[in-house]
Order: sequence, then structure tokens, then C-alpha cells
Amino acid sequence: MFFEIRDRDLLARIGRLETKGGIIETPLLLPVINPAVQLITPRTMREEFGCRALITNAYIVKKHFEDEAVEKGIHGLLDFNGVIMTDSGAYQILVYGDVEVTSQEIVRYQEEINTDIATILDVPTGWTTSKQQAQHTVNKTLRRARELTKIKIRDDIAWVGPVQGGQHLDLVARSARKIGKLPFKIHALGSPTPVMEQYLFDVLVDMIVTAKKNLPLERPLHLFGAGHPFMFALAVALGCDLFDSAAYAIYAREDRYMSEYGTTRLDELEYFPCRCPACNKKDPQSVTAMPRIERQKMLAQHNLHASFSELTRIKQAIIEGRLWEHLELRAHGHPALLKALKNLKKHGDYLEKQSPVTKKSGLFFFSSLELIRPEVVRHRERLFERYSPPKEAEVLVLLPQTRTRPFHKSREHRRALRRIQQKLGDKMGKVHVCTYAAPFGVTPQELDEVYPLSQHEIAVPFDDETTEYTAKQVSNYIETTNYKSVVLLQDAKVWNGKMATACRRACKKKKSYLAVLSVEKPWNKRTLNDLATAIQNVLS
Ligand SMILES: [Zn+2]
Repeated sequence: MFFEIRDRDLLARIGRLETKGGIIETPLLLPVINPAVQLITPRTMREEFGCRALITNAYIVKKHFEDEAVEKGIHGLLDFNGVIMTDSGAYQILVYGDVEVTSQEIVRYQEEINTDIATILDVPTGWTTSKQQAQHTVNKTLRRARELTKIKIRDDIAWVGPVQGGQHLDLVARSARKIGKLPFKIHALGSPTPVMEQYLFDVLVDMIVTAKKNLPLERPLHLFGAGHPFMFALAVALGCDLFDSAAYAIYAREDRYMSEYGTTRLDELEYFPCRCPACNKKDPQSVTAMPRIERQKMLAQHNLHASFSELTRIKQAIIEGRLWEHLELRAHGHPALLKALKNLKKHGDYLEKQSPVTKKSGLFFFSSLELIRPEVVRHRERLFERYSPPKEAEVLVLLPQTRTRPFHKSREHRRALRRIQQKLGDKMGKVHVCTYAAPFGVTPQELDEVYPLSQHEIAVPFDDETTEYTAKQVSNYIETTNYKSVVLLQDAKVWNGKMATACRRACKKKKSYLAVLSVEKPWNKRTLNDLATAIQNVLS
């Protein structure tokens, strides 16, 4: 098995990727090594950072170390005995306008230097590209991808098939669909420079989701040029498995300190918020006073530690089934990230279909932002598509949620049920008791224990959007079922009349009878008596 998925959450996966240079675990960050300039040597990366894989640029290696790299092999040249991936250098060739290097040469050269993961010479789409020009980059990349089988000699190297198209999503889709049919082991998506520089993460979300929808899901996806830890959670959650980071070194050269929350200039730091080996026992003042190269090395080391640490946290969140919570935490690090998270709403159905159905842990709901969560979307869709109420049920009784779950086992619901039973006797079969609860809406008693309807915690009071969403789910339920009447027990303090309004509207549409008991103390004896009487009345 080349790529084995061991754990999943949202679209994220923890996987084992087998290459000829060794097995690596994804999601994984590959630090970019420029063989000509190194702030941290590959050997140090392996020994002190536990780094299992890195990426370098085949074009730059060829330009500076052409024969030496062939002689020593890329592992020997870099002095690194882990997995080495090479980028083709397409971007550099474009920038330097080197027409001397052909696609065939770059493919053969990567074989000659014995790289483990290699990339074809794609044509990056870029950002300000017209549709026509973007189309050209997609076609040319596809042509080179098809040529690969004729050019390559070795079969032990994992080839990467890049997806192009930039911000033109229809082209991204086409590019992904076509290249996904070719025998590549790994795919990659280029994130155009402005996406990262101008924090256009909402655009990135659309690009990644479009590529994922059209690529074979069993192949790993590398996201090129996205090396900042504060956006790893977003990219991993959308199914990116590999990343490269040149940022750790570039930022260090500009005296910038990276963290999972963002970037800070060294001269703005009074304290180091980190205890990694690079930061430990140092303070920003003493680092500022260091000679330039020392300072850059220290910052590069910290930046790399910060990046690796964040990926470790993400992996632990995947294991715990808490990636959404982690993602939301990170999204509050920058408005652009929150915007991107909100942009996930339009991909809610896809996210739902790809996310695991059950998890080890319960869910936390903090605000209306979580209404996009796959579990919320899933309940909405399944209740509508797969559920029908008991045939003999004539009256829908809607009870408010309780703190105890499952609801029907709470003291409050048990008391209410006992009271209704006493009053109705053998007519009880005509009554269908359901709970209405934020954020899921209607929970029929018989589904009460299905994950995650009982396995979640929600912060009270609910925000307006959550209240409205829940009320809408209740009215949708009434509209799509066929009860003769509805009896609503409304917790007036919590719902502020909104649940009653929603039920009234739905019942009017369905021409069903509605009885509302709106009270401040829904569980006291008198209310429960009134409730039982109301149900008896609508039944007779
Ligand atoms: Zn540090």
C-alpha cells in the first residue's frame, strides 16, 4: 500500500506514505532546502528536529551542482538520510526565463539524482492570468503529465502530478479531473503567491475543495507554497496531506517570528511566547543583539519548531475528533482565516459527505459558526431524507432540551412523559414526543441516543443565528411531516417566542392545529398538568 489512511476528521487524514526513501506520516511539513544557502543544515533537521522529509528544487540543484548531485545522489549532496522530494523548479524557470531546460531534462535529472518524490515540469498558472492564458497553463501541464510515461525510466520514484488553474475554478476542476486519471502517486496544488501574501484564504478554500472534489481521494495532496503554521489547520481540514515551507527561512531573514497565531516582528516582541529549544532561556532583546547570521539561525529554528508543533497539535486533534474545534480556534487568529472558515458554508454538503459519521468525543458548540459543521448538516439532511415519524402518531409534542442527555432519560422529560401517560392512557400511541434543541432542531425520541444528538455541549444563551436556525429546522420538520396537531412546550426565557412563531407559521401552512404553552418554568407540576390536558384536548 503506497498511502494508507489511519485516522480521519473532516477531510483531514493521518496517513502512512511509503516511498523508496522510507515511510513518512502525513500530514507532514517538508522544509524547503536551498542547497546553496542553508540556515539549518539537513542533518540538523533530521537529528534535532526529527524531520523525516524535506524538499529541494531540482532546477537549482542542476544549475549549481549538476554533476556533483548525480555523482553523490541528492541524499549524499544534502547529507540527509530521510525522504527527499524535489520540485521541478517550474516557477524559477518561468521567472528566469531559462528556455534551455526542457521538460524531459528535468524529469531525467530527478531520476539521476535519485530523488524519492519528484515533480514534472508543470506550468504554474499564477494569479493575474487571463482565462485564456490559464487554460494554456492547464493544457501544457497536462501534456507534460501525459509525456511522463514515455520519458521516465525508473518506477520506484513517486511522481507528483500538479493541478493548475489558479483562481479559475472550472479550470482547476478540469485540470484535477484529467490529471487524476493519469497514474500519478501524489498530486499537488499550487497556491499562487498573492493567496498567501494577501491572506486570500477564502479563495484558497475554493481552490482546494475544487481540486479535492475532482482528484482521486486515495492519493495524497501536496499544497505548494503554504508554509505558515497559522493556516495549516484550514488546509489539513480540507484534505491537504503535504506542505512545503520556505517561509521558516524567508521570515527569519526578515526578523519575523512565526507562531500558530500569526507573525510578529522581532522588535515588537517583549517576550517569547514559546519554550522550544531555540527560544528557551533567551529573550527578544538578547536575540536582537546577536550577530545577523546567529539571529537568523535562531529565528529559523524557532519558526520551524513552531511549524512542526502546530502540525503535531493538528494530528492530535484529528485523533481526538476535535479538528473543527482546533480549526475554529485558529480561525480567530486572523479575520481572513475566519472569513475562509465562513466560506466553508458553501461546501457544507461536500464536507458532510467526506467527514466520518461517528467520533470518539462529543461536540462543543460555541456559536452559530458551528452550524456549518458536518454533524449539523448531516442531521438536517438525514431527518429530511431518511426519517418518518411512527405511522399511528397524530400529535407531535415538542419538549424543550434539558441539560441531561439523552433528553428522554432526563428527570424533566421522564416526569413530563409520566404525566402525559397518566392523562392519556391507551391513547398514548397517538402521541409522538420529540425534543427541540439547538443547534440540531427536532430530535425524535427514538433517535435521542444516536451520535451526536446526545453527545454535545452548547453554550447558552444561544446567539440569534443559532436560535433562528433551530426554529427553522423545527418548522421544516412540521412542514415535511403529517401530524394532525402540534403541542409546543416553549421555554419562554430561552426561545423568546421564536419557537412559537416558527411553529405557528408551519402549522398554518400545513393546516394543522397548534397549541402553545409558553412558560418560564417548563418543568413544574402545573405546567406539566396543563401540557397533558392540552394534548388530551387536541386528541379528542
Ligand atoms: Zn520557539
